[in-house]
Amino acid sequence: MKENSYTLRVYRGTSDKQFWEEFELERTKGANVISALMEIQANPINKLGETTTPVAWEQGCLEEVCGSCSMLINGRPRQSCTALIEDLIISGKSTTITLAPFTKFPLIRDLCVDRTKMFESLKKVRSWVSADGTWDTTKQFGEKVGPEVQEALYVLSTCMTCGCCSESCPQVNDHSPFMGPAPISQARLFNAHPAGKNEKPERLRALLDEDGIAGCGNAQNCVRVCPKKIPLTESIALIGREATKQAIKDATGLSDSGD
Ligand code: SF4
Ligand code: SF4
Repeated sequence: MKENSYTLRVYRGTSDKQFWEEFELERTKGANVISALMEIQANPINKLGETTTPVAWEQGCLEEVCGSCSMLINGRPRQSCTALIEDLIISGKSTTITLAPFTKFPLIRDLCVDRTKMFESLKKVRSWVSADGTWDTTKQFGEKVGPEVQEALYVLSTCMTCGCCSESCPQVNDHSPFMGPAPISQARLFNAHPAGKNEKPERLRALLDEDGIAGCGNAQNCVRVCPKKIPLTESIALIGREATKQAIKDATGLSDSGD
């Protein structure tokens, strides 16, 4: 191995065939995992000197906002755009860096996975504010939100559906329908919106299904890995209480507006 170089060990393949492939790259100031993958793309020659196919990965904003470049870097779920090569070498005490795709989502190819399940869960919990033009929008959207609430909700709104929380959650697995923590936290965000409140009962009922709130085992891995520091377990606890109240209301015939 050349002086001033490092090894990128990359998981390759599709659902039919997988293997590890190593690449030797030069340590350059400011390089991150994405720039290393781009280097391989421009010159796809592995450590054995063989010409290979360029590695497939996803990327978007390159500023940790879109979440698409998420993968396992040295075994930790995170975004590759903010993973600096020098930091990884220092923190891992090794000149070998390992890249692998998330394991909780279907593999497409190499480092790309299909996160459709997360987006379907967001649809299920109505992770939006309906604005179809039939409402009195001046009234619905005119309601003021205080600064404390704004502050609490802002952090929830930074979720980028990256999937790091689901990847780290032991309850998200092939034997469980659990949707993971991110959509639950998004239900909290939209339940608190002045217009989003209208659909709060539907969101809570969706979360009472078998893939919803009951799936959480409170292992708390999700809050530890969330790059946006979203208080996921707080959201899960809050939504859990609200969902229970909703279930009681539905069982007893109390109106949605009643306590
Ligand atoms: S809650 Fe955090 S870890 Fe989970 S998808 Fe959103 S940003 Fe990613
Ligand atoms: S607290 Fe719940 S959602 Fe978070 S990692 Fe644990 S089981 Fe998963």
